[in-house]
Amino acid sequence: MSYTFNNKAALITGANRGLGLELSRQLNKKGYFVFMGVRDLEKGKIALQTLTNPDYASLLLLDVSDPASVGSAVKQLDQTGYPLQILVNNAGVMMDGDVMKDSTTEIGPEQLRKTFDTNFFGLVELTNQVLPSLLQTPDARILNISSDMGSLQLHARQHPLARTFAYNASKAALNMYTIHLANALRDKNVKVNAVHPGWVKTDMGSEYAPLEIPDAVTAIVDFLLKDDLPTGKFVFRGEEIEW
Ligand code: NDP
Repeated sequence: MSYTFNNKAALITGANRGLGLELSRQLNKKGYFVFMGVRDLEKGKIALQTLTNPDYASLLLLDVSDPASVGSAVKQLDQTGYPLQILVNNAGVMMDGDVMKDSTTEIGPEQLRKTFDTNFFGLVELTNQVLPSLLQTPDARILNISSDMGSLQLHARQHPLARTFAYNASKAALNMYTIHLANALRDKNVKVNAVHPGWVKTDMGSEYAPLEIPDAVTAIVDFLLKDDLPTGKFVFRGEEIEW
């Protein structure tokens, strides 16, 4: 298979499994140099070898919930000198204690904080630190992997999956961040969007999910790489959905 490296790079968090690994695979196949953010380098090495062109990929030790880890990963990234065009904030957690009959009233502050540390605070910190690099690249793109579980309007209409309060609240905060950041960067040539991947067969989504990983990720990548990518949208399979 012929392969053209397009001299652009993408950083994907949580890239050693699930949607993050498939996002890495598909972007790498399309010619991107892929920085794969992983928490475990040994597992990351195995994941990296499944890419079409592993020579155009690199592992970054990155726990987004740990500010020191974010700082050293960004430093490492900057030292490579690659023009970063894409940041995919994919890493996310749904903690066991969140999946209970009424997590809204029963969940403890520790679980709430831990969920926000990864799904929100860590993501904001990483994005802020990577932004100077993105701002140097024409047509830069930030994609936040959110969830319809973070949609206030769906929940207001008694969304049937209204449990997992910590997760839902963290994704709602992520959605608000997406809108704020898109507005802040509107004149600076960085597009910022959030996507709902659908309910996908991953460790988080479980075996009962209807969507296969490659199918869900193809829809995400098709949107992310659109020539006329909008900014400040919340999208599922290329179509806008309600915040
Ligand atoms: P998985 O549980 O399969 O994978 C989660 C990934 O996030 C893993 O690579 C994990 O790394 C990484 N991760 C978790 N915490 C951190 C952290 N603190 N720092 C860095 N990486 C971390 O989940 P999915 O692939 O399904 O989920 C990917 C994204 O899609 C998430 O944001 C999720 O909320 C979202 N989503 C998924 C849906 C689904 O149905 N699957 C539906 C809607 C949204 P490690 O292997 O080290 O644990």
